[in-house]
Amino acid sequence: MIVPLFGSSDQTHLTNYSGDKKEWPVYLSPGNIDSTIRSKPSNLASILVALLPIPPKYHFKGHGKTTAVKEQQIHNPEVLRKVYEVLFRPLDALFNTGKLMLCVDGRMRQCYPVICAWTADYFENIHLHSIKQPNCPVCEAPKLSFGEWNSSSWQLRDYRLYFQTMILATQGDETERREARQHLEDRAVGSSEGIFWNMKCLSPTTIIVPDIPHTIYLAMLKHSMDRETSFLEQHSRIDKFNQLWEMMPTYPGFARFNKPSGQVMEWSGKEMKALGREIVSVFAATHLNPSASQRIPFTEALLCVKNLVYFHLMAQYRYHTEATIEYIVNSLDEFHCHKDVFSRFRASKSTMKVSEALKMQLTLDKQEERESHPAWNNLSAAAKRRHVDEDTMQIESEIAQHLVDKSDFNFVKMHLLNHFSDHIHQLGNLLNVSSELPEKAMMDLKQVY
Ligand SMILES: [Zn+2]
Repeated sequence: MIVPLFGSSDQTHLTNYSGDKKEWPVYLSPGNIDSTIRSKPSNLASILVALLPIPPKYHFKGHGKTTAVKEQQIHNPEVLRKVYEVLFRPLDALFNTGKLMLCVDGRMRQCYPVICAWTADYFENIHLHSIKQPNCPVCEAPKLSFGEWNSSSWQLRDYRLYFQTMILATQGDETERREARQHLEDRAVGSSEGIFWNMKCLSPTTIIVPDIPHTIYLAMLKHSMDRETSFLEQHSRIDKFNQLWEMMPTYPGFARFNKPSGQVMEWSGKEMKALGREIVSVFAATHLNPSASQRIPFTEALLCVKNLVYFHLMAQYRYHTEATIEYIVNSLDEFHCHKDVFSRFRASKSTMKVSEALKMQLTLDKQEERESHPAWNNLSAAAKRRHVDEDTMQIESEIAQHLVDKSDFNFVKMHLLNHFSDHIHQLGNLLNVSSELPEKAMMDLKQVY
């Protein structure tokens, strides 16, 4: 009988006082416990099994790295891997033989514990699995594809194969070594062995699970809010939005925001959850009575926001059927179909700089073109103004297109959404592996500080 286990680890900053104290706890929990029971720390459903050693900081002096720093960088992952090896040696030993255990029905059964899922945030995951930032730890999708909707087109990472390849990269003949190194390099695999690559007691296909708080709330919804604010400013609707935002009535389960969204410097988890529930209604009301030119962008913007909100709310259902998973996939599909309306607000600083220069140049060119026309001086003031307005509109449209062409959504947290539906298929639901659970379990450790 398989005994599923859920593991988690999260390096946490505790305090800046008494010299930057940090903790790196590792928790294990039986997989067959309901998420409502697991989420209460007082139920002790998650057991603290280790506090990992925190490696010393690297100190860069002058240009480049010193030999000591390079050695430290090789040494740190190796120490961490050895600690994990010691930690899970007893579980690994049970992989072939199993262990007689007393089950809840009073019978003894031969049980085989397997770690089915490991809850960690993105940075912890790439660290544990030895993947270079900013790549996906689940599949081999290239960075330039991260803004695309392509749930199953990329090869899933095979960490067992990486382990074999890394052995070849160090022990094979010259050609084998070169090819193996290239194979790993092409897949953005780090230079050290991943923590779990060679462990028997875990399921390599399900070990990486979605991290809803960090991926959805602190990344997608927060970025989405920033883009929406810029969009509303562009369409002179930000005051209306802020007005409606502050007018939201009290209602059980709804949080009241008492300052404009732009003034919220740091969103707490609770506020981000409230934002996820309320943003569509406020956004829809802000877009009422659009002008003729606003009708299409407003419809697109609302569809984009609505589908992101639907996606994240449905991803947190306690129970799923094929139909709910299909809704999730369709919402993500729709989100990608309409997200381009926000593209120009994803522009990098350098793109913004180039577009400013381009706008200035186009304005000068248009002015010269107008004024060099033989009929220009004979036109009335109203006719001249009309020409200037037409040119300004054309320049605005060209700049907007330039910003859209030069901007993209190629960031890893956008891509990670593609894997949510597969994870739900594998694990049933995502609440049991939420990174909120280890965060809550860590309260006791934090309280000391
Ligand atoms: Zn991926």
